[in-house]
Amino acid sequence: MKKHNSTRRSKILFTKAQRVIPGGVNSPVRAYKAVGGNPLFIERAKGSKIYDADGNAYIDYVLSYGPMIVGHTHPKVTRAIKAAADKGTSYGAPTPGELELARMIIDAYPSMEKVRMVNSGTEATMSAIRVARGFTGRDKVLKFEGCYHGHADGLLVKAGSGAATFGVPTSPGVPKSYARNTLTLPYNNTKLLKETIEKNWKDLACVIIEPIAGNMGCVVPSMNYLKTLRTLTRKYGIVLIFDEVMTGFRVAFGGAQERFGIKPDMTCLGKVIGGGMPVGAYGGKKEIMQMVAPDGPVYQAGTLSGNPLAMAAGIETVGILSRKGTYERLERMGQELEDALRDAASRAGAKVKFYRIGTMFCTYFTEREVVDFETAAMSDTAKFARFFLGMLERGVNLAPSQFEAGFISLAHTTSDFNRTARAAYKTFKEIS
Ligand code: PMP
Repeated sequence: MKKHNSTRRSKILFTKAQRVIPGGVNSPVRAYKAVGGNPLFIERAKGSKIYDADGNAYIDYVLSYGPMIVGHTHPKVTRAIKAAADKGTSYGAPTPGELELARMIIDAYPSMEKVRMVNSGTEATMSAIRVARGFTGRDKVLKFEGCYHGHADGLLVKAGSGAATFGVPTSPGVPKSYARNTLTLPYNNTKLLKETIEKNWKDLACVIIEPIAGNMGCVVPSMNYLKTLRTLTRKYGIVLIFDEVMTGFRVAFGGAQERFGIKPDMTCLGKVIGGGMPVGAYGGKKEIMQMVAPDGPVYQAGTLSGNPLAMAAGIETVGILSRKGTYERLERMGQELEDALRDAASRAGAKVKFYRIGTMFCTYFTEREVVDFETAAMSDTAKFARFFLGMLERGVNLAPSQFEAGFISLAHTTSDFNRTARAAYKTFKEIS
């Protein structure tokens, strides 16, 4: 497999961008700080491939961090966006499109009796938490180390290790007083979960969790853990929020909640439901969602919420996914890539752990099982960086961080997987 020769134009663009945009990027991970090298500037994408400013093609497993599950520039999605644009890009008034997408979401997620559209995953989680606080009259939030729920102040809190600690802000600019309302626990630890909820339930408005953690790679919790979480939150009147911004319409049509058979009180969605346009949504039980203005007193609004272009892209994307056999096909594709990568790693003698659920996956450079953030962080990130750069040179685009999941789209092919496995074999050899 030929290595790419030049990324000269990307380098020039990055230098220029750094003068006018912090770090040259509009979202930090894009700057390649964790892996070194210069970020690629992307000019276009089609199906399973993205093309950089120098004209190099890459098999794309980033897929805009999840949304592009039907493949880039799917003709139906593109056509729907163009048709919507012809009719007007925003009205600040209700539209038939937002009703249609809301119904599609509610049909797929029986736990969501009502849903409100917003513009990003961050807005969805931030709003859901406000509603949970308004509903319960309690202030505190429990989250888990290694779970990312967007960049709202109270959620940018890292755990102390071991037992639950009162939150310390992960980012300057987050007041300590906000962070103090966020409790953090290690993921997947049933004992600590029980102890913390039993001790703090009177103050706990909600527990927010990624039911499959995709922001520390790909960590699948134990069934027992999720069941315990459901039982305890129900017992103590705590709102259980599943953050399915990444897993929604990804690991199953009905998300992780369908896959695991667990019904949360509230759900946050994003990514896939916007088909690549800026969308988020939050919803849940009627009695909770009735708190939201104008039905209830909890304020939440948005100039561009339910944007007609975004709704059109979402409706088409979810429509394609609703076709019979889609998730069986995605599962088979996931298995195919998994088999090919495992084979490449074993032939190259690479000491890695590979995790996958449906079309979400992650390769960790460790020999230990990864069950939480602590074990994920044991991965040799320097080795990951070399792996990432080696794969990129060979035309495979992975996320530039050990702690991001990889994604597959309906547009990926067996030939893509075989090429990826050949690139992986050579790269594993090169870095060992
Ligand atoms: N929740 C989860 C689980 C996410 O993965 C993300 C984004 N990666 C968010 C929330 C935030 O979404 P956004 O970037 O659209 O604000």
